[in-house]
Amino acid sequence: MLIDGHGRKVNYLRVSVTERCNFRCQYCMPEKPFSWVPKEKLLSFEDMFEFIKVGIDEGIEKVRLTGGEPLLRQGLDTFIKMISDYAPTLDLALTTNAFLLEESAQRLKDAGLKRVNISLDSLDAVVAHQIAQKDVLPKVLKGIAKADEVGLKIKINCVPMKDVNDDSLVEMLEFCKEKGYEIRFIEFMENSHANVKAGLTSADIQAIIRKKYDFKKGEREGNSPSQSYFLDDGYKFGIIEPHLDDFCSDCNRLRITAEGFLIPCLYFEDALSIADAIKAKDIKEASNILKKVLQNKPEKNKWGSEDNSDRAFYETGG
Ligand code: SAM
Ligand code: SF4
Repeated sequence: MLIDGHGRKVNYLRVSVTERCNFRCQYCMPEKPFSWVPKEKLLSFEDMFEFIKVGIDEGIEKVRLTGGEPLLRQGLDTFIKMISDYAPTLDLALTTNAFLLEESAQRLKDAGLKRVNISLDSLDAVVAHQIAQKDVLPKVLKGIAKADEVGLKIKINCVPMKDVNDDSLVEMLEFCKEKGYEIRFIEFMENSHANVKAGLTSADIQAIIRKKYDFKKGEREGNSPSQSYFLDDGYKFGIIEPHLDDFCSDCNRLRITAEGFLIPCLYFEDALSIADAIKAKDIKEASNILKKVLQNKPEKNKWGSEDNSDRAFYETGG
């Protein structure tokens, strides 16, 4: 079992397979990303798999593939199959913008993928274009429909921003309710790469929804970063509230970048690389580095403070 320096059980690994992306979401990336990791520095899927095996053997029970945009990386389905064959009961999920999902959903499902979280910030094509800085909505909706058709469990992620998509939130909620998807509104996390005037707080989001629907706060579910709320008819939606004081109290997550840096917290810069150890097939050393990073996992993020994270979400997988 993996326990961090604050006694929290860590059983969830988020794996960024690429930092590249076909969108330029204004909350995530500068219009011109300042650097791409050269291809030769990326961990191969074989090397990533070696590390994931170390994690699973030590107690990782959930793996999420993310990025950047993970569907841009060739061979993702083969990678998923490697992981799924090794640990068939693992909770294996993907976070994607869904632009390339229509053509890949069936292959991913057949390879062993169980769930997808999809970014969808507006159902208005003009607003979606403004956010992603590209005409994305028609293809994203087709990707979502295909994922549903092939039987992948779907959650929708939406980052509400003041005067950008705040008037789309109820429509988004209703779309997801009708389709049977859970929607999670994510409070905008300030970072030095984003071009956002203001994100909405959880209180702002709740106030907007309450204008049309009554709802009750649910219990926080296990280690989920999302606080659940229930409409009167039982439909559940979530809000991810990283600015709240107790957000990190049961954090169970660890991240690895496409280059092999292990990151203990989305907010922080501290990271150690497992790349050399894995490439040298030194599993013991990789396991030692994993434990060291866990010991240094900070107790809390600093999104409630005045500081601004330098960590780019497209590098770490959000
Ligand atoms: N490209 C994929 C996608 O967009 O779903 C996966 C990577 S993306 C970095 C993962 C998640 O991080 C997305 O749901 C996105 O909305 C969220 N995200 C990115 N930047 C964020 C920010 N500054 N604040 C809150 N959420 C953010
Ligand atoms: Fe790309 Fe996802 Fe970041 Fe948008 S949120 S720019 S889709 S990595």
